[in-house]
Amino acid sequence: MIKYCYSLILLFFAAGLQGQITDPKATEYYTPVPPKVQAGEHVNTPPSDAIILLGEDADPAEWVSANGGGPVEWTREGNTLTVKPGAGAIKTRRVFGSVQLHIEWRSPNEPDKEGQGRGNSGVFLQERYEVQVLESHGSDTYTNGQAGSLYKQSPPLVNATRPMGEWNSYDIIFNAPVFDTNGMVVRPAYVTVLHNGVLVQNHFELKGPTEYIGLPHYRAHDDGSIVLQDHSNKVSYRNIWIREL
Ligand code: MG
Repeated sequence: MIKYCYSLILLFFAAGLQGQITDPKATEYYTPVPPKVQAGEHVNTPPSDAIILLGEDADPAEWVSANGGGPVEWTREGNTLTVKPGAGAIKTRRVFGSVQLHIEWRSPNEPDKEGQGRGNSGVFLQERYEVQVLESHGSDTYTNGQAGSLYKQSPPLVNATRPMGEWNSYDIIFNAPVFDTNGMVVRPAYVTVLHNGVLVQNHFELKGPTEYIGLPHYRAHDDGSIVLQDHSNKVSYRNIWIREL
């Protein structure tokens, strides 16, 4: 009997360690709500040492389909790329470690949609760590899933999202995680984000890759692409440039 109890305790302990969360809602929270601020004019043009990923001088071949590496199927108008729902995510041909990334995005006009269904996309650093893109000016959702959040890990300090249809910018400083040869974390990843020039993430320590369900935990990886998410909304992107740190 004692042996049985001991086994049962071990089993519960192991289950606890695994953090067996099956409900996505378990990692979504709604308070406190980041206060709204109206961002000022913010223009940030690329310095001479930046790699232009999307813009006037960019090589269209900088982006490929994230699934298979084929040509991008999103809608290209001038220097703007717009999600083609169902076409899937796109990624940079190059891979990166720690970077400074500037990116501009615009939510489509979707007044009939709300929450995670309105203007959803995302900027994934090293293919794993999502800075959420969402129409968060006129629609609410869980705060750690709104625009400027590190999805399901950290809500933005304030809500600086511009109204639907207007261009937004992110300036992201990403310090890639460092792993030792055994795959252990030597240094976690840190992210700082300015949204339309307003600080919304202040050197936040990521707990691991973005997870929709359950708690994040690190797994060793190499440098990775920047990925832009297809979440079925026609979100547009322009003026993307990057500096390797
Ligand atoms: Mg997203």
